[in-house]
Amino acid sequence: MSAPTRRVAAATAVAVALASALAAPARAEWLSRTVDGTMGTRIVVELWSDDHAAGEQAIDAVMAEMRHIDTTMSTYKPDSEISRVNAHAATGPVKISSELFGLLETALEYSRITDGAFDITYASVGFMYDFRAHHRPTEQQIDAALPAVNYHHVLLDRATRTVRFSQAGVRIDLGGIAKGYSVDRGIEILQRRGIHHAMVQAGGDSRIIGDRFGKPWIVGIRHPDRRDEVIARLPLVDTAISTSGDYERYFDENGVRYHHIIDPRTGHSASAVRSATVLAPTATRTDGLSKTAFVLGAEAAIAIYERLGDVDAIIVKPDGKVLYTKGLAPPQAAQPPANSQPDKK
Ligand code: ADP
Ligand code: MG
Repeated sequence: MSAPTRRVAAATAVAVALASALAAPARAEWLSRTVDGTMGTRIVVELWSDDHAAGEQAIDAVMAEMRHIDTTMSTYKPDSEISRVNAHAATGPVKISSELFGLLETALEYSRITDGAFDITYASVGFMYDFRAHHRPTEQQIDAALPAVNYHHVLLDRATRTVRFSQAGVRIDLGGIAKGYSVDRGIEILQRRGIHHAMVQAGGDSRIIGDRFGKPWIVGIRHPDRRDEVIARLPLVDTAISTSGDYERYFDENGVRYHHIIDPRTGHSASAVRSATVLAPTATRTDGLSKTAFVLGAEAAIAIYERLGDVDAIIVKPDGKVLYTKGLAPPQAAQPPANSQPDKK
């Protein structure tokens, strides 16, 4: 299990949040940098360093790593490694870097863990959506492309370090896991430089090491419709956290929300929940798991998370109800076991 602080009941979170806010004077040794654009998102690095120059250099190194991952793994860059795979893997094996090979293995593992809800071949249909331009594929286009969506079409050969697609039309996209992976790489870089208190964030994926001013870091989970409202504040130490939401990249048309998480079974936006926040030891893991509830529904996702043991989650359903894994459930929401005695205290 991860740090005990993860287990702080949500009900106490507001009190802790207040205490933390009051105890947070500006201290020069906390360094912070925000960069917009890399991996199509906002990157934030915050860390505690005794040495200002060394701290700034550590942030430089994290940002350079993020740019490297973007260059390798962005499907928007025609000369990226992943674009090369998409262009050639249906006609034969493509030799790839051990880094990409490793991440593809991890991605397939998350497909198995999530009963196929997480599936990087979603892109075989997903590439036809453009949420910024309010463009979506027709039903005919979806039907034609859907057979290519299936993670079993991605064949990895460890011996030759190659990837091949089992049929034409398959495309992969790491948008659902590369940010989490980049956050873990960033944290590794900081740890290797002797930094023990830090937060690295790439869009909705974050990881925290150590505490902040001797207290937990406070992470708010926003309301799906009201941007400035939070539904929970979590005091966190030594954990990763990812939030997926249908309000991140979307457009509405005739009362239907078209958004960026795609159900691999239908090729349509996956709308079983409004948002899902997942906590686990690494950001690769939280990113790989945060899409599950959108496809399988809140209850099925929570069953998977609880089976995994090192994962907690907060899920907002379409009716606004909030579901928690057992490790995070606020006391008033906890159901007593069927055979429990009334509390005599
Ligand atoms: P963010 O991109 O802000 O980290 P998410 O972690 O929720 O947001 O990931 C959403 C992204 O995941 C989409 O933009 C797309 O690139 C990718 N994606 C969409 N549907 C799936 C799916 N079923 N399985 C894996 N990745 C997906
Ligand atoms: Mg993510």
